[in-house]
Amino acid sequence: MNVLVINCGSSSLKYQLIDLETEKNLVAGNISRIGMEGTEHAHEAAGAKKKEPAKAADHLEAVGLVLKEVIEDEGVPIRKVSELGAVAHRVGHGGEKYHGPVIIDDEVKTEIKRLIPLMPLHHPAMLAGIEACQKALPEVPHVAVFDTAFHGTIPEEAAVYGLPYELYKKGIRKFGFHGNSHEYVAAKAAEFLETPLHRLNIITCHLGNGCSVCAIERGRSIDTSMGFGPLPGLIMGTRVGDLDPGVIRYLMDSEGLTIAQVDDILNKKSGLLGLSGKSPDMREVLDAAEAGDARALLAIKVFCYRVKFYIGAYTAAMGGADAIVFTGGIGQNSRG
Ligand code: ADP
Repeated sequence: MNVLVINCGSSSLKYQLIDLETEKNLVAGNISRIGMEGTEHAHEAAGAKKKEPAKAADHLEAVGLVLKEVIEDEGVPIRKVSELGAVAHRVGHGGEKYHGPVIIDDEVKTEIKRLIPLMPLHHPAMLAGIEACQKALPEVPHVAVFDTAFHGTIPEEAAVYGLPYELYKKGIRKFGFHGNSHEYVAAKAAEFLETPLHRLNIITCHLGNGCSVCAIERGRSIDTSMGFGPLPGLIMGTRVGDLDPGVIRYLMDSEGLTIAQVDDILNKKSGLLGLSGKSPDMREVLDAAEAGDARALLAIKVFCYRVKFYIGAYTAAMGGADAIVFTGGIGQNSRG
């Protein structure tokens, strides 16, 4: 069976067409900088790699590019839609309802929509991806795979906030994200180390536009840097990461900002973008720092310090670490 895997990030769409019998990737690609200047489409099929400028003003247009490559173009691996067994969509938050993959129906979409306030940057993009794919491929089953599911093993002492207990009972707790990524790279690291996963303590650092660190003790997530939503923890492209909650009240009082304006700052104007004043994109921040921009250099230092901080915390939480794994666009590509 062939499965098309779709992963819509806030500004990117990654995809792979996988033959489940042979576990071969038939097509893989990444459309980056969606809705920005300089959208790029990198893809690989039958061993041939290409990277070209593309036009994708939004995720709907990006899905159009993917389907053209996977189904419509001459010489593509799939000639008929019936050869596609399923489309698997990465979804950010499964809330308390979903602890594993589910077929996407109206109820699932309603739940994903309901959780938008918890994932304001991701769920709209993910929903747009789901809806565009369902429209283009109505006869194929679409499956949601949730980022929160892997963190279901985080023990209470790490998941509970120091808030009144009733709020925990109402579902205000750490959920954690990037679970599929953390789970996958930990398994790959174990393979690489030729040691069973259940004998290893691993710290995984997913550093993309969104960033999180995970402590994986003997194959189970025991803590992670994101929380109830994807805002806390590391410095990200535009998100603030850890912050004293007192700053929110202070900004509202001293700057006369509404809660929506503060929320906009924390989600969309902070992180690498806010600190550097240049870009949320690490490559551009690195270029600016290299050219001598002091704010860009500060943004990189803050970013790296926070990663180091969490690695130290999780080494202590697990009583040591056998491996530290880096993934995501920054983790995979930047040696800085
Ligand atoms: P998303 O979270 O949207 O899926 P990615 O995992 O693709 O994003 O990561 C995007 C980030 O990776 C951007 O900040 C980008 O600048 C960074 N990145 C990509 N390539 C490099 C590189 N060679 N060096 C440093 N950063 C890189």
